Amino acid sequence: MISKRQILDQFVKPGVKRGDHHPLAPRHAVYLRAYASGGARFAHLFRETWDRLPLNARRAILKLWKSNDVRSTGVLLSPDIEYASDWSGKEPGDVGYVRCGGHIIRFASRRVEKMPDDVVQDLIAHELAHVYQWASGEDMHVLDSFDIEYFADEIMDYWGFDPESIDRWGLETGVTKLVDVDKLTESQKKRLRARAKRAGRGLGLYI
Ligand SMILES: [Zn+2]
Repeated sequence: MISKRQILDQFVKPGVKRGDHHPLAPRHAVYLRAYASGGARFAHLFRETWDRLPLNARRAILKLWKSNDVRSTGVLLSPDIEYASDWSGKEPGDVGYVRCGGHIIRFASRRVEKMPDDVVQDLIAHELAHVYQWASGEDMHVLDSFDIEYFADEIMDYWGFDPESIDRWGLETGVTKLVDVDKLTESQKKRLRARAKRAGRGLGLYI
């Protein structure tokens, strides 16, 4: 099996030279793969976001990415972070995406390119909050998607980011998407309405 070191030497480092891979936290072997335009800007904003996270959150996330269980998921080098216009499993409206227990992260380049810098940082923080949920042992298989999103927003809020800026941006640019309200419980609907009221809209992008 190919080792982590071999992947870094054969794929990542030549990519950094070509300019389609960007170091995010190279000391920890964290790189961004970005063939889409705007990759360098996104990498810069990712590094700034990462530096804003509390130290304990960064440590927990790095510990997850370095854990051995990653091999069982089929991810050869964790984290596998890509900035791309499309990926396998992407749904229309997806802006960010975390899968595989926090080892795979995707960002939709066409949407991100249009976002102001601070909104991009909020998006990155939101996806990192999902990774943190896995890292801190939150039972993601038991929670429904509404609760997962709600808790991720609470976490990023606690970190000092704005959980509603993406919604506001979506509203302004007309890329909102309604959630299927019938599937929610009464307490979820209540929280959804409260959040929608704050953000001034229905509910937004799939992040
Ligand atoms: Zn989310």
